[in-house]
Amino acid sequence: MIYKSLTELGTALAARKISSVELSRLFLERIRRLNPLLNAFITVDEEKTLAAAKIADERLAAGDAHPLTGIPLAQKDIFCAQGWKTTCGSKMLENFTAPYDATVVERLEREAGMVSLGKANMDEFAMGSSNETSCFGPVSNPWDTTRVPGGSSGGSAAAVAAYLAPAATGTDTGGSIRQPAALCGLTGIKPTYGLVSRYGMIAFASSLDQGGVIAHRAEDCALVLSAMTGFDAKDSTSLDRPAEDHARNLEAPLKGLRIGLPKEFFGEGANAEVMAAVEAAIGQYRKLGAETVEVTLPNSRLAVPAYYVIAPAEASSNLSRFDGVRYGYRAPEYADLTDMYKKSRSQGFGAEVKRRILIGTYVLSHGYYDAYYLQAQRIRRLIAGDFAEAFKVCDVLLGPTSPTTAFKQGEKSADPVEMYLSDIYTIAVNLAGLPGLSLPCGFDAQGLPIGLQLIGNYFEEARILNAAHGFQQATDWHVRQPAMAA
Ligand code: GLN
Repeated sequence: MIYKSLTELGTALAARKISSVELSRLFLERIRRLNPLLNAFITVDEEKTLAAAKIADERLAAGDAHPLTGIPLAQKDIFCAQGWKTTCGSKMLENFTAPYDATVVERLEREAGMVSLGKANMDEFAMGSSNETSCFGPVSNPWDTTRVPGGSSGGSAAAVAAYLAPAATGTDTGGSIRQPAALCGLTGIKPTYGLVSRYGMIAFASSLDQGGVIAHRAEDCALVLSAMTGFDAKDSTSLDRPAEDHARNLEAPLKGLRIGLPKEFFGEGANAEVMAAVEAAIGQYRKLGAETVEVTLPNSRLAVPAYYVIAPAEASSNLSRFDGVRYGYRAPEYADLTDMYKKSRSQGFGAEVKRRILIGTYVLSHGYYDAYYLQAQRIRRLIAGDFAEAFKVCDVLLGPTSPTTAFKQGEKSADPVEMYLSDIYTIAVNLAGLPGLSLPCGFDAQGLPIGLQLIGNYFEEARILNAAHGFQQATDWHVRQPAMAA
């Protein structure tokens, strides 16, 4: 059961071959056994999970179920879920129990009837590429527990890769769905900015943050994404578009699909094994009838520097609310009000979060705003323009997701810039607000998964999911399992 696709699970539940309570118990038992090795979950609450599964079973019995009703999932701990501890991986929110549901939680759990297995570990406030900045400790990669799962949705990815959950939510500000999906051998999609409501999703960089899903297969992602997206009046950046079925195009043949290969993604950035797997994937796509065309994204080399001005600027503003007064960690001892703010924020935030707040405050300050923030916004516009040009001659863009496979824990933590470069292929997509997906396309000599990135034009989720599904019908990278899965 635990290896089945979401469609198969839905069919089994609808036919009453298994109940949601039984299915949830299978995953809870694996979590109990394997989570100590992985640290993929921050909070597990078996009673809550089983109570939700029981409600799902009643819905199934009453015949008023959604195709996802009764299917378990892991929720990244950035999404507020009523009654659940919601920490965002930070000591600042260590004791925060959300009084309301994020729209994503409401849609997936209350409306579609999916069952939460718990809150997945993550980098603190989603800042990181390795899931080593969580105040609840690092997450291990199920393919090699001495290595990182990627970040910031590292707990979500590790949980799915080890079959502790059949799917998980994630968020992606600069790569945090696609990069951990790549490093854990999974499929993950970040939709067009504005498609998934940010209401109740703790804000990092509001103009870049977007919720999405990590699962084994493109078809699984399409189902969950369809239940997540849609207009929400509670998020001012939510796009007012009719609801859509992102799975509608899955089975379309790939013949004639025009794949753009950005010259900048095939230069020096990635290691040789990653590039060899990406090249082999291109060969596979040609076999499936796709055509390739070389394109150029001349400003993409500016994406990481622009992102590390814009994202910290927005973070410094978003995180100013954590002052130890209304909620959040408050230092036990302090002299006066200013001292209380200082001590609460110094003790409540970890090093990476503080670094971002300092950078962000600096680039927004008087005299530097024009030189840094405004300049970065101009670069952002140029990057979006590059993509617009490229999509005139192709339907999707293809390249590596991450320059390397999973690296060792501790390997990059002393060098922030080295860590930031993990996202050289993913960040431009967030700056432009485009949909992006990562899917498995091979393994390196050490048996670590390699990810392939597909980028679509705005609102072309169905097309990149179709391109990923077509590839997965012809290959089996996405169903290979780490030894731990047995
Ligand atoms: N690794 C990037 C960062 O640290 C992206 C994180 C994310 O997408 N949330 O900002």
